[in-house]
Amino acid sequence: MSGRIALVTGASRGIGRSVATALMENGYRVAVGYNTNEELAREIITEKHTGIPIQIDVSSLQSVDTAIHAIESQLGPIDTLVNNAGISQVKPFLDISDTEWEQMLSVNLLGAVRCARRIIPGMSDRGFGRIVNISSVGGQWGGLYQVHYAAAKAGLINFTKSLAKIYSGNGICCNCVAPGLIQTDMIAVELNEKKSNEITKDIPVGRIGTPEEVASTVVYLCSEQSSYICGQTINVNGGTYLLG
Ligand code: NAP
Repeated sequence: MSGRIALVTGASRGIGRSVATALMENGYRVAVGYNTNEELAREIITEKHTGIPIQIDVSSLQSVDTAIHAIESQLGPIDTLVNNAGISQVKPFLDISDTEWEQMLSVNLLGAVRCARRIIPGMSDRGFGRIVNISSVGGQWGGLYQVHYAAAKAGLINFTKSLAKIYSGNGICCNCVAPGLIQTDMIAVELNEKKSNEITKDIPVGRIGTPEEVASTVVYLCSEQSSYICGQTINVNGGTYLLG
């Protein structure tokens, strides 16, 4: 079992929740990041699943600083960071305001930057770290109705490569996971509005994915076994990207 300490942002629901649970099952003590849903974050900490719930709004530098300070005091130095927190918005390109662009980039791209900038110096000093950024198939393809979301997710892929270039030599592996359509609250509206065969027709596996299927890849990238994988983007999308 690992015994390592992880921060997972946006872990109250969806993919982040599955990642936090899977890391706990693998012996990590996990800071379960939530923004508004404290109760949901608390729920996954049990006798067997060790960690703390932590309020962290990744769009606020002050919130990130306060949360990381609290994690370091209560659990110890963070050696595993999963930048998962994210928001989405469906809107035609010409209708997206500057404020909406700024909010999207602040949560989905700068949130990862803020956490990494705060945590990397300690990882470097200790000569070990794992950072996994959760991007999206949209970050590779572009988006029809989520141009700002897709741009932020593309930024994460590039940010991952830069961190890998700078810090791989310090024992810090930084990688990206790009999920396709995954069954969570984030895509609930889309799932309600479209027929299921319309949604799955471009997914070779023939179904949408589960948060657990993303989590297992993230756990591997957090492990010591992934020590020679740096700067990569791993697609967890049922083969969708092959059709792009
Ligand atoms: P979700 O079910 O909507 O959950 C979003 C999580 O992010 C929640 O835990 C939420 O916290 C947190 N969050 C929102 N704003 C935040 C902020 N400002 N600071 C910190 N946390 C914040 O989403 P999901 O589908 O699991 O998505 C997780 C990640 O996977 C996102 O980065 C998303 O872009 C990416 N992704 C998802 C899909 C998909 O099909 N679902 C596909 C590709 C990529 P609270 O609940 O506490 O407010």
